[in-house]
Amino acid sequence: MTVRRIMGIETEYGISVPGDPMANPMVLSGKVVTAYASQVGMRAARAGWDYEDEAPLRDARGFDLARGLADPSQLTDKEDPTLANVVLTNGARLYVDHAHPEYSSPEVTSPRDAIAWDRAGEAIMREAVRLLARPGTAGVNLYKNNTDGKGSSYGTHENYLMSRATPFAEIVRHLIPFFVARQVMCGSGRVGIGAESTRPGFQLAQRSDFFEVEVGLETTLKRPLINTRDEPHAIADRYRRLHVILGDANHSDVTNLLKLGTTSLVLGMIEDGAVGRNLTVDKPVEALHRISHDPTLRTTVQVSSGRTLTGIQLLWEYYELVGTWLQQKYAGELDEDTAEVMTRWEQVLTKLERDPMEADREVDWVTKLKTLEGFRARDGLDWSDPRLRAIDIQWSDVREDKGLFNRLLAAGRVERLVDEALVKDAVNTPPRDTRAYFRGTCLARFPREVAAASWDSVIFDVESQPSLQRVPMLEPERGTEAHVGELLDRAASADELLRMLADGAATRG
Ligand code: ATP
Ligand code: MG
Ligand code: MG
Repeated sequence: MTVRRIMGIETEYGISVPGDPMANPMVLSGKVVTAYASQVGMRAARAGWDYEDEAPLRDARGFDLARGLADPSQLTDKEDPTLANVVLTNGARLYVDHAHPEYSSPEVTSPRDAIAWDRAGEAIMREAVRLLARPGTAGVNLYKNNTDGKGSSYGTHENYLMSRATPFAEIVRHLIPFFVARQVMCGSGRVGIGAESTRPGFQLAQRSDFFEVEVGLETTLKRPLINTRDEPHAIADRYRRLHVILGDANHSDVTNLLKLGTTSLVLGMIEDGAVGRNLTVDKPVEALHRISHDPTLRTTVQVSSGRTLTGIQLLWEYYELVGTWLQQKYAGELDEDTAEVMTRWEQVLTKLERDPMEADREVDWVTKLKTLEGFRARDGLDWSDPRLRAIDIQWSDVREDKGLFNRLLAAGRVERLVDEALVKDAVNTPPRDTRAYFRGTCLARFPREVAAASWDSVIFDVESQPSLQRVPMLEPERGTEAHVGELLDRAASADELLRMLADGAATRG
């Protein structure tokens, strides 16, 4: 049996621009980066990854956008929306969210695919940084993290397709304790305690201190553990898109796999009404903060049954519940992806329980803490030392030669699950088993005729038709290679594709 689920990751990148930030509005920088990043996808689609550098991008008046980073007053239209929202041939969306360049991955159906298309986004951002670092430009840099360490935070959102039939109250009840504990194996680590890092120290998660309430609609103020945003981008009475905003941007494949894999399984168990135990945690927001602040993992929380559990113990409870549910439902006949998530889950919890430092090849925060402790021992640094904060930021630098995580990776010090070759492929190829396949392939084949694309439709502008033609895609699992691959292969033009789709729709009734 296969336990699959439609999912996608949005990553907002931290951005820094040398020079005076006031003279160089960040929103504009974000747009310029996004414009370049969108070119990366297209250049790679045209000429393969090893394309030759092309001419710089220019605004409507012909002014070099990269130079505009240094002197934005020269740019024609600072609000030009075409600079800021594009869909790529791999089915992803690139845009600027509150000045942060954001890559929203295409819909995938497994944690491994989520990793591949998330890292494709990072590869695109890295390439945009490189293209912008030409002589004579101010340059710009990007960070795959979630806080600047000075009080501002930007998100990495997970999106999970769920059945609309599941009562939201059940999701809230069973997911909150899981989220309180999940950071123990999924946090990316952070120097500084408190949203503004007012207290010295190290904590498990980048995002935890920025959460203030249990449930709510907001994503940038009074952030809630469970976000109630309800835009399914799909048939609304059949599906919900659960929008998870409290996770960290992960670098480690194993950590990312655990984040998406275990959460998806817990959701499956909730959908089946199969959570056999009440694990409600007392004061969950405070518990989230306390667990994050303790890298020894000894901190305990009160569970409503009267028990007192550490984060690890709480995760073991979920691990056992999911194991029982899988056994009952699939009688041990698990697909490879699910089996991998369960095995990793058990291995990582076992290591964290024995000695957290044992998980330094798998868990982001442990890798980071171990590195920081190395610097501390070598240079006698106190946690309040600004050099440690600088190292924390440098950790997430997207550049291969500068980013500390990337350097450890190159040195073989952390585990990798998804080959770089697959990631490069994912830069301009959509996943085959979701509607992202139709979206991305249409953009690659008929770039001139696709007037617009969103998660749930592709809009064509073809000569034979007086008005725009909208192809709805409200079923995330349709529009796959199996459904439309042959059709797309046979269609010599967008016109023909639309005709064939109309015929198909007619014969299907
Ligand atoms: P933001 O939080 O930035 O305001 P958003 O959460 O509404 O935006 P996008 O940034 O457009 O949305 O990203 C949507 C993400 O959800 C993508 O990664 C996409 O692959 C994924 N997605 C789209 N439709 C579904 C769905 N029906 N179920 C689960 N995931 C989906
Ligand atoms: Mg988004
Ligand atoms: Mg979002």
